[in-house]
Amino acid sequence: MAAWRELGGDTYVLAIGPLRLNIGLVVGTERALVVDTGHGPRQGAEILAAVREKTDLPLVVVNTHAHYDHYFGNAVFAADGVTEFYAHENAAAAITELGEAERPAVAEAEPEMAVGSGENTQIVVPTAIVREQPVLVDLGGHSVTLFYLGRGHTDGDLLVGTGTTLFSGDLLEEGGYPEFGDSYPEEWADVLRHISALRHRYENLVPGHGSLCSDAFVRTMADTMATAVRSARQATRETPEDATKAIPILPYGPEQSRLFIHRLKASSVR
Ligand SMILES: [Zn+2]
Repeated sequence: MAAWRELGGDTYVLAIGPLRLNIGLVVGTERALVVDTGHGPRQGAEILAAVREKTDLPLVVVNTHAHYDHYFGNAVFAADGVTEFYAHENAAAAITELGEAERPAVAEAEPEMAVGSGENTQIVVPTAIVREQPVLVDLGGHSVTLFYLGRGHTDGDLLVGTGTTLFSGDLLEEGGYPEFGDSYPEEWADVLRHISALRHRYENLVPGHGSLCSDAFVRTMADTMATAVRSARQATRETPEDATKAIPILPYGPEQSRLFIHRLKASSVR
């Protein structure tokens, strides 16, 4: 049996794989909604089997953002009859443009997906698109709100709100440094403050990876990121020829600090 954790309001979470990817499930009376699908057909099948322990209802899928571990399992769900795959418009665009190029990232865990041959290895691009306005998905008895708070971990992070729980995708990650590769650090800090402002609406806050988060965790992450933005800007002003000087003073590991500085420069127009 899969180790689903019950969060109330027919909402569940399942941490899967060594990276503790959090899969969400909301079960209505007519349909059920799955949050993220894993890094390929193997993990996708594991997730679908876990979902089927809970419900036989038709499914809809949400991809929180365009990183391979959150959508490479989509084809497994398409084969199960899913036609509604939700994503933010920027995430859908990124999957269309960059999905094929992400394949090599899963060479070890999902060799079939890496080379794109075998069952359920096609890249399924979401066609149920969320833009600036929130989208309400009616499951019968429960509705789920999909909404966007601006650029952060990527330019297309979708949040999933249920009666009890907010699924944040990788806008929140517990147990490691934030992943800055496609991020907008300054705007991300603002998005985190916005998530904190919603704290009275949801009992549970589920990050993209790791254990459930408290509001204190969110506020600390926001403050740390905002401070890092200021420190990096100051260091860059002092030694404009060598922005990497800021790396040792940043509160992240060397690799994430390098990405942080790169993305801060790339995403700042000032
Ligand atoms: Zn991510």
